[in-house]
Amino acid sequence: LVSLQRFILSIHMLDFINALAAAIGPSHVLTSPEAMRSHLVEPRGLFHARALAVVKPGNTEEVAAVVRLARQYHVPIVPQGGNTGLVGGGVPDDSGQAIVLSLTRMNRVRHVDADNDALTVEAGATLASVQEAARAANRLFPLSLASEGSCTIGGNIATNAGGTAVLSYGNMRDLVLGLEVVLADGRIWNGLRCLRKDNSGYALKHLFIGSEGTLGIVTTAALRLFPRPQSVETFWAGVSSPDQALALFRHLRAHFGSLLTAAELLPQTGLDMVLTHFPQTRAPLPAPHMWHILFEVSSPMRMDLRDILATVLEEALEKNLLENGVIAQSLAQREAFWLLREAMSEAQKHEGGSIKHDISVPISALPEMIRAGCEAALNVMPGCRPVPFGHVGDGNLHFNISQPIGMDKALFLKHWDVMNAAIHALVAELGGSAAAEHGVGRLKADIMRTLKQPQDVDMMRAIKNAFDPEGLLNPGTILSRES
Ligand SMILES: Cc1cc2nc3c(=O)[nH]c(=O)nc-3n(C[C@H](O)[C@H](O)[C@H](O)COP(=O)(O)OP(=O)(O)OC[C@H]3O[C@@H](n4cnc5c(N)ncnc54)[C@H](O)[C@@H]3O)c2cc1C
Repeated sequence: LVSLQRFILSIHMLDFINALAAAIGPSHVLTSPEAMRSHLVEPRGLFHARALAVVKPGNTEEVAAVVRLARQYHVPIVPQGGNTGLVGGGVPDDSGQAIVLSLTRMNRVRHVDADNDALTVEAGATLASVQEAARAANRLFPLSLASEGSCTIGGNIATNAGGTAVLSYGNMRDLVLGLEVVLADGRIWNGLRCLRKDNSGYALKHLFIGSEGTLGIVTTAALRLFPRPQSVETFWAGVSSPDQALALFRHLRAHFGSLLTAAELLPQTGLDMVLTHFPQTRAPLPAPHMWHILFEVSSPMRMDLRDILATVLEEALEKNLLENGVIAQSLAQREAFWLLREAMSEAQKHEGGSIKHDISVPISALPEMIRAGCEAALNVMPGCRPVPFGHVGDGNLHFNISQPIGMDKALFLKHWDVMNAAIHALVAELGGSAAAEHGVGRLKADIMRTLKQPQDVDMMRAIKNAFDPEGLLNPGTILSRES
């Protein structure tokens, strides 16, 4: 009986695959393991994913047709963009019953409207291509991530991506004017308006932003553009402690306001890893410092920002807000500073296992988070090497813990849950978030139940049921199946 049931099921699924092929063309429905492979691995290699097929529709109507068919055959859908997400939300589980719906064929920038400072783009366009289209129209699209060459606008929206310019321009949520979304029942919602003000009821677009593919499939977006900066200065400071880094940040923020566009904190331990594993890099300052902070100030006006910055920094030195510092003298030096920051995660890979936390706390609580977090990590695993770094101006740290030198990697990674619990307990105590910018995905779906209030989970479940009553959109992401 079991084998008869299996046979009927496989015939049913074969019908489904054939129907998909008829709807979007056979060459856009991948079923062989080799063709699907790159869609089933994620950057951290934490999940073993399998799929019935990877489907690549070419336009919104085809996305809608795929969703309708998946509904008819009751097949779960995992939307996928560039597959650079770090929490396992863009890949299916290992049941092999879901399809991956890849948006990468929908990659056109449809319209750049410089008069309205707006740009309309399909969800599968890479972030880098959107930045480039804005630049060509003498505008800025400010979202900036190390993965920008591969991540897509749809993925950026679905994860409410952050990055290095949040301090001045906000998260992706602040950069979206309107959306077109295919709903779970296969209807197309056209919310592609470029309005700055619209209080005509619930802000529906915001439900889709940060929903990680669980409420609908983003197919097109209207995005905000900004004037291009005409003056940019980059500054690297060595400081003795996170307290001093924060004091320096406050000093710069008080002088530059929203012209302070980036503030990135790095520990000397992390910088040493970058300098060791990236031979082309150089330490920006002659001597080591316990901590480093990378600042950028920029203005849409042509002005002598460097002179102003030098004066502000002289004052900071007099007030003992830094130990040493250097302003980048050329574009090449600016890029060299940024490479040190961007290589931080990659460098840790060369040091063996790394247990990750993507946390945020109120900015004033950052020094305590770092002090107590390092202590907690060392209690869990003596000899481990905490490397907390990140967007200090947003209170967002990638609190990564590298394994003790010489320890077996697999053995170290077995401490993932207990290390997470120790760090997340502190985050909760300090009023922070354990999913600051990468989202929840499948990686953190279970722990969200313990870290969120029951009221949060109830409201989220109610929204999910209203948008996707059959639970076919990215099941197991954000809300674990049990919650
Ligand atoms: C080197 C590196 C650096 C990174 N730096 C940052 C950083 O600074 N800040 C930051 O926020 N993130 C960062 N990330 C994480 C990642 O790049 C972002 O989360 C990015 O926004 C994901 O885009 P993607 O197209 O790759 O989405 P995917 O990884 O394909 O998917 C991510 C999630 O979005 C959903 N999704 C994708 N497309 C759609 C769509 N069209 N409609 C509905 N749901 C969709 C997926 O189902 C999944 O849940 C980094 C990643 C790497 C590898």
